[in-house]
Amino acid sequence: MSRKVWILRLTHRVERDKRVTTHLALVARAFGAQGMYYSGDQDMSLEDKIRGVVERWGGKFSIEYVDNPVQFTRKWILEKGQVVHLTMYGIPLPDVIDDIRRHDKILVIVGSEKVDSIFFDLATYNVSITTQPHSEIAALAVFLDYYHQGAEFKLDFPGAKYKVIPMEKGKKVVKLR
Ligand code: SAM
Repeated sequence: MSRKVWILRLTHRVERDKRVTTHLALVARAFGAQGMYYSGDQDMSLEDKIRGVVERWGGKFSIEYVDNPVQFTRKWILEKGQVVHLTMYGIPLPDVIDDIRRHDKILVIVGSEKVDSIFFDLATYNVSITTQPHSEIAALAVFLDYYHQGAEFKLDFPGAKYKVIPMEKGKKVVKLR
């Protein structure tokens, strides 16, 4: 996939967010992102879990803690490019996706608790996936599907130990190495 996407998950709280942040990383990886950065509490068990999935199911997805997400975002803008912040207060995705797709390297920011207003200012695009409150996992999945225009269904995950063979009924998994 020629388009490269990284996620920045703000303010991870070890106890409260462990499932949601894990699922965010899993969705990011499955839907073709290159990696996820996260701020808040550093969580080695989250990192180990995601690295374990990469080891078994392939691909190059990275997970990395960032201590100062504002500084990180500023550096990203200077060195790499565009920032998309997913928020129910932003511009509806269908209205901006063509513009966003002109950029082939983006950072997608998602929050957990209330997001500091600095991220609304730093973002190139504040984007809503409907203007109703819901979930960062759902918002990210819909965003990545629009951004990749369905190409995530054809992704390859090199180096995988296991691969699912899709079937109408039952489960088939082959061991590759
Ligand atoms: N209450 C928080 C606030 O006011 O910023 C938001 C909490 S929400 C559970 C966590 C994250 O989900 C948000 O920061 C945003 O990234 C994402 N999110 C939730 N609903 C969204 C929507 N309708 N559109 C885009 N992103 C959304």
